Amino acid sequence: MAKQQFKAESKRLLEMMINSIYTQKEIFLRELVSNASDAIDKIYYKALTDDKLVFDKDNYYIKVVADKANRTLTIRDTGIGMTKEDLENNLGVIAKSGSLAFKKDNESKDGHDIIGQFGVGFYSAFMVADVVTVTSKALDGDGAYKWESTGADGYTIEPAELDTVGSEVVLKIKDNTEDDSYDEYLEEYRLKAIIKKYSDFIRYPIKMDVVGK
Ligand code: ADP
Ligand code: MG
Repeated sequence: MAKQQFKAESKRLLEMMINSIYTQKEIFLRELVSNASDAIDKIYYKALTDDKLVFDKDNYYIKVVADKANRTLTIRDTGIGMTKEDLENNLGVIAKSGSLAFKKDNESKDGHDIIGQFGVGFYSAFMVADVVTVTSKALDGDGAYKWESTGADGYTIEPAELDTVGSEVVLKIKDNTEDDSYDEYLEEYRLKAIIKKYSDFIRYPIKMDVVGK
């Protein structure tokens, strides 16, 4: 599939976010964990009204895996997943995020506080990653699809494989530069601290694994 361009507004916002708004890079993990939790909420609420769907809480969790050798950080959830159309509509149009729209309305008035308090969404992943890959299999979909993007220059979507319904977000963590180090986002103690700081209230288990030391 040819590379799709982000909608114009998306592109402008994305560049703005990556370059200037974010001062605390660590919040990307809060955003991805909160999306994972939202996705599990959706399957949970669906199970309440759909008796063909049983919500067995042992099957619902968020897993964070740091792979030092490959420099990847993976956030896997067993939530409701995304269809190909969802990937396109939800990840391809940055300005759709409710929280982002809110932030945009308010940022001129109150600068950083607002930014710190409200979710900035999926795209914050590009603060620490130069490639983001989302493989997802929707509960009511036709198999898995893989969305991949290197940031502002667009994204691709292609058919993929995933063992269970849900999503897997893989961040290719940036190489260190003279000014910034990204190695910390592959360190267990650091990831645990970030999760404790921002995601302590999440009601699903957050499992962690570090491989390829
Ligand atoms: P927000 O969470 O404020 O809607 P985000 O930028 O964080 O904005 O995410 C955009 C949308 O992408 C979400 O609303 C959701 O529909 C979809 N999404 C993101 N991550 C996941 C995920 N892990 N599972 C299912 N859907 C997701
Ligand atoms: Mg979100």
